[in-house]
Amino acid sequence: MQRLPLTAPSVRLRLPPPPGGGGSFGFRTGVLAIAATAPFLLGASDPPAWTRPQAPFPIAGPITYVGSEGIAAYLIKTNAGAILIDGTIAENAGMIERNIAAAGVRPRDVKLILVTHAHFDHAAGVAALKRATGARVVAGTRDVRALETGTPPGETSYGVIRFPPVHVDRGVRDGDKVTLGTTTLTARATPGHTPGCTTWTMRIPAKPRALDVVFPCSVSVAGNRLIGNRAYPRIVADYRRSIAMLGMLHADIVLPSHPELADVIARGQRRKAGDTTAFIDPALLPKIVAKAKVAFDADLAKQAR
Ligand code: ZN
Repeated sequence: MQRLPLTAPSVRLRLPPPPGGGGSFGFRTGVLAIAATAPFLLGASDPPAWTRPQAPFPIAGPITYVGSEGIAAYLIKTNAGAILIDGTIAENAGMIERNIAAAGVRPRDVKLILVTHAHFDHAAGVAALKRATGARVVAGTRDVRALETGTPPGETSYGVIRFPPVHVDRGVRDGDKVTLGTTTLTARATPGHTPGCTTWTMRIPAKPRALDVVFPCSVSVAGNRLIGNRAYPRIVADYRRSIAMLGMLHADIVLPSHPELADVIARGQRRKAGDTTAFIDPALLPKIVAKAKVAFDADLAKQAR
């Protein structure tokens, strides 16, 4: 299924489930050429929050939220420019750029864009943001082809939602480090949701001790074919390893691509109101992962029937 420019004659098609990390959250839509005359359900759209503007807000240390209300993008300021995590959907690229500027960073000073995974709701805006900033794009090696062709990897129950392709300047594997100035993030391979799904981790200075920050890649099934997936035969083993690994990872702060998974917007409001510990929640990642594991096992059992 091709995602067409909004100016093209198109119909919007509602197709559960979502490709993103939201698990049971909402629907995702594709856009079909009107020439497709199949009797599709009309009138639905992506969750409105995905394109709803959100004023940027500080999270902790050098990290600022610059995404929309419903899809996250995170800005990390360093002493040598800034790092952006994810680009959200294509329609949001201008909004993200304005949020970056509002956060006090000139778009040209964004030097790196790190991608969690090659799905349109997180990667479609990256091409335009790369053009606007001149940043180098970094992503998991096993998602590079998908990003560079604009075609998500693997087989799903909902078809294919393409996105603007983007050149990847560096592919990373598990344990690879990405450094800008004195700031370093570590890539943790968490394949399954996509083959190159990459969790990013960093440590930020704080008192009384440094804080571990984790930007987890999604481990939701979200329509992925778990049985007989010819494009991704090892998908189940990958999911299981990633779920186990993420469940063990220590995170004082969890910043997912779907902000509702960690109540990021609500925590931001608390933080703005003066609660400097609003984002610190070491029990959160194990909780999110345990929930995802239950959902994964249930989906696998259902698909095996
Ligand atoms: Zn996804």
